[in-house]
Amino acid sequence: MELYELTAHEIADQIAAGQLSAQETTKACLERIAEVEEAVNSFVMVTADHARTQAVQADERLTEGEAPSPLAGIPIAIKDVMCTRGLSTTCGSKMLEDFVPPYDATVVQRCSQALLPMMGKTNMDEFAMGSSTENSAFKVTANPWNLECVPGGSSGGSAAAVAAGEALVALGSDTGGSIRQPAALCGIVGLKPTYGRVSRYGLIAYASSLDQIGPLTRDVTDCALIMNVIAGPDPQDATCADIPVPDYTEYLTESVKGLTAGVPTQLLGKGIDPQVRDRVQAAIDQLQNMGLECEEVQMPHIDYSLPVYYIIAPAECSSNLARFDGVRYGYRTPTETDDINELFAKTRAEGFGPEVRLRIMLGTYTLSAGYYDAYYLKALKVRTLIKGDFDSAFEKYDVLLSPTSPTVAFRIGERADDPLAMKLADICTIPVNLAGIPAISIPCGFVDGLPVGLQIMGRAFEEGKLLQVAHAYEQATDWHRQRPSL
Ligand code: GLN
Repeated sequence: MELYELTAHEIADQIAAGQLSAQETTKACLERIAEVEEAVNSFVMVTADHARTQAVQADERLTEGEAPSPLAGIPIAIKDVMCTRGLSTTCGSKMLEDFVPPYDATVVQRCSQALLPMMGKTNMDEFAMGSSTENSAFKVTANPWNLECVPGGSSGGSAAAVAAGEALVALGSDTGGSIRQPAALCGIVGLKPTYGRVSRYGLIAYASSLDQIGPLTRDVTDCALIMNVIAGPDPQDATCADIPVPDYTEYLTESVKGLTAGVPTQLLGKGIDPQVRDRVQAAIDQLQNMGLECEEVQMPHIDYSLPVYYIIAPAECSSNLARFDGVRYGYRTPTETDDINELFAKTRAEGFGPEVRLRIMLGTYTLSAGYYDAYYLKALKVRTLIKGDFDSAFEKYDVLLSPTSPTVAFRIGERADDPLAMKLADICTIPVNLAGIPAISIPCGFVDGLPVGLQIMGRAFEEGKLLQVAHAYEQATDWHRQRPSL
């Protein structure tokens, strides 16, 4: 295997043993970027100089025997929705094309303190709205397993970068599936942590009651290591839970014996591609053989997840995106006018793409007087029922299992004119965000040469148990060792 094909922990071991340096590792990924980026388009911006400087710092600290983290020297890619001081942060939007944040997001700061060289900012659906990364204002990212297919979204750039070896690990954000779904479609591991587990300071908000930042990695061990770097309280973010963080690697030695799993009937039935269902069922059977007690569970309100999400998320986005008005920062229309309303309207019509404008309009509508009770308030009530289904299921089961995505990667452009088909991509992941719980996607096979993901969901703040089950499965299979031939 080439250097860029190894996992982060394999490389970290070599670095710790003095067999490899951070600079050599960074160089290998930069060379890989030079080789494949034209075809894959993972990045909005490659920050080569920045990465090299950080790699030099990492090597210095390592030779002094003062590595601040086991991941010192591991190249990371950051979704362009997280603020990076002095480096532009576009959110995939023309609105923020020239925005250079004066501060780092907390997760960016923590990765930088842990001395992970940042390779660049990755492409994404505009303001994280989408499931294919086709909604970016700048470029379309390709799936490294088949360049004619999408990588999933909205963190498609981060997923493609890791799958292609342009970085060894990445960060994404997940509001309705945007870490897990691209991880599944690109054959890697993606974790959406519990709401409040990871600081969102410096994350450009989409839907604040749903957004979480999390890792995209090649295997479960790397995922645990990144969680050790980014999780935990942050005085800058009042929604970040002030509770202690375990060492996630301690969960990687356990087996699944004695644990129980529910398989929600609603997530393995209609709408799931039969070949994907077969792969996921095979993974469930394998876990059962390993000692995980699995049985079907009914979660009747899950069927309402998509409509509930598409009321709540646009409502929150219409409020969050109101700040982009051409006055304070971001894009401003070049049209000369004395009318402030015209300035707002033109700026927003020109700065936002069609999907973002659609969602702002939807959200404004459902929040307006007369419709608030009928749509928004009702959606909140149904959200509580959905969460109730999870609460009851977790009284009985340690984890829940489902496909991550109902299909494998689809062709670029295929769903452009079919918004419903596009939105159905998140049918298995959205319920998790509505309930605020953690879930991980891990590779569990292939259909027609394209990766399939298994989703494991858990109780709030029990990421450790997800990693335990995921790692046990991974040890028994070698799906995570497959690499695309680019
Ligand atoms: N695809 C979903 C949406 O478009 C989820 C996006 C996300 O998780 N950021 O809203």
